[in-house]
Amino acid sequence: MRDFSIKNKASRLIFTLYTVMVMTLLGSLGVSLYQSWQLRLQSSQNEMARQAGIGNFIIEHASINAAKALGNAQQSLQKIMAGGTLSPQQVHEVLQYCLQEHNAFINSDYRGLMLFIDAKGLLQARTDSFPSEHFDFSDRIYFQHLHKNPELEITIGPLVRAQTTGEWVFHVAIPLRDAKKAFRGVLAQQIRLTDIAQDMGRYIDHSRPVQIVTQTLDGHLALVYPPQLATQIGTRGIDISYADFARRSSTPQDAFLWPTTPSSASQRLVVGYEVSEHFHFLTTAHRTLASILIGFIEESLFLISITVVALLLLSLMVVRLNRVYDQFADALHDSYSDALTQLPNRRALQDMFPRLLREGMRSQQPLSVLFIDIDKFKSFNDDYGHDGGDIALKAVAQVLQGCVKRPLDFVCRWGGEEFLAILPHTALQAATLIAKDMLETVRQLELCDEQGRAMRQVSISIGIANTALMTDHDGERLINDADHAMQAAKKAGRDQYVIARTSDS
Ligand code: GH3
Ligand code: MG
Ligand code: MG
Repeated sequence: MRDFSIKNKASRLIFTLYTVMVMTLLGSLGVSLYQSWQLRLQSSQNEMARQAGIGNFIIEHASINAAKALGNAQQSLQKIMAGGTLSPQQVHEVLQYCLQEHNAFINSDYRGLMLFIDAKGLLQARTDSFPSEHFDFSDRIYFQHLHKNPELEITIGPLVRAQTTGEWVFHVAIPLRDAKKAFRGVLAQQIRLTDIAQDMGRYIDHSRPVQIVTQTLDGHLALVYPPQLATQIGTRGIDISYADFARRSSTPQDAFLWPTTPSSASQRLVVGYEVSEHFHFLTTAHRTLASILIGFIEESLFLISITVVALLLLSLMVVRLNRVYDQFADALHDSYSDALTQLPNRRALQDMFPRLLREGMRSQQPLSVLFIDIDKFKSFNDDYGHDGGDIALKAVAQVLQGCVKRPLDFVCRWGGEEFLAILPHTALQAATLIAKDMLETVRQLELCDEQGRAMRQVSISIGIANTALMTDHDGERLINDADHAMQAAKKAGRDQYVIARTSDS
C-alpha cells in the first residue's frame, strides 16, 4: 500500500523548516542586538570620557583663573605690607579691584567672592561688602593647609555651603606672607558651583542623565553636576573615590565599567574620567548601566517588533502550508483508497504490487496472491438491498484485512465484491493457512442490516497463486492465475480455496 505516513513526514519537515527559520531569525536578532549593545556601551564610555574631559577642563580653567586673580591681589597686598600696615579697608579695595580687573580681562561670568582671612583665621575682607563680619574660618581645610605648610603655594578646598553667601562653592586659596616669609593670612577665591554648572550645561547632552563629579587630590569633592546633586550627596562624596581610582588606573584618561564585580547590574556604572594637569583634579562622568540599557531597549524596539512581525507572518504561513499539505495528503489518500471499505484500491495495488514483486525476486522469497470473491453476492444484494450489501462488503473487507498480520501484507479491493491479498515472503503452505482462516472467519460473520435485523451468512471463494511455481515473476499472470483458481473454487461448490496450477506448465 502507498505510504500514507507522508502526512506525518511532511508535517515534520515543515516543522523542522519552521524551527530552522525561527532559530535563524532569533539568532540574527540576538547577534545584531549583541553587536549594537557592544557599540552602545562603547559609545557610552566614549561619551562619559568626553564629558569628564569637559568637566575637568572647565574646573581646571576656573581654578587657574582664580589663581591668577589671587596672585595679583597677593602681589598688591605684599607691596602695601612692605610699606606699612594693612587695614581691612585697604584689603577690601585691593581684592575688589583685582577681582574686577581680572574678570573683565578674561571676560568671566563667575561671581564667586574673593576673601581675606587673617593669620588667626578670622575673615577680614570680602569683595562684596565692607566692613565684613569676622567669621572664624580657622577650621577651614584650605586655611589649615596653608597655615601648617609654609612651603605650600596654593591649595584647593572642598565643596561647601559658603558661610558668606550660603551658596555651594569650593575655594582656591593662596597664602599671604610678609617680606620675612611670616604667615599673615590666606587669600581665597570662591568658585560657585552654579557658575561651573552653567558653563558645563552648554556642552552636555541633557536628554540622557549623567552625573559628573570632580574630586581634589585630597579626595574632597569640588564639583558635582547637575548642581542639585550637591544637596543630595552633600560633602560625603560618592562611591568612586580618588584613592580607588589611583589604584585602578595609571592613565590620565579612560572609561570603563565600575565596579567590575557588581552586586547588581543597575548599580554598575559606566565611568569616564580625566585627571587634570595642574591641580590634579579627578573628574568622573558616569551613568548607570541600567539607564543605558533602558535607552538601548527603547532604540531596539523597532528591530524587535519587526522580528516579532516576521515571526508571526512566518507562523501564519507555516500553519497555512500545513493545512494545504493536509488537504493534499488527504486527496492523495483518497485517490489510493476505496471509499466504502477503506481498503487500498486497485490504483494502490498497481503502485505497490510491482515493488513487492521486485523485492521478492531480489530476496528470492516466494510471494502468494489470494483472489477473493464473495459468493452469490448478487442474490445477497437482491435480498437485503444495496445498503445491506454494502454492510456485508465492509465486514468482509475488515475480516480479510484482519487475517493478514505482517507489515508488508497488502489487502485491496479489486472491484465489486472481489478482493486481492498480496502476501510477500509467503510460501504456498502459509498462504493456504491464511486462506483457510479467511474462509472460516467470513463464515462466522454475523451480519445485521441498518435496522439491526440479522442478515444471512456470507461465504467467499479463494484462488491462490504463488511465485514459487513460476519461472519469472509476472504480476498480471499471477493475478490471472489466482482469478482462474478462484473461479475453479466457484465451480467446485464455493466457500473453499483452490490453488492455481501454474500457467507455465
Ligand atoms: P458468484 O461470485 O458466487 O458467482 O456470484 P455473484 O452473485 O457474487 O456474482 P457476480 O459477480 O455476478 O455478482 C457480483 C455482484 O456484486 C454484482 C453487484 O450487484 C454486487 N456488487 C458489486 N459491487 C458492489 C458494491 O459496491 N456494493 C454492493 N452492495 N454490491 C456490489
Ligand atoms: Mg465477482
Ligand atoms: Mg461473487
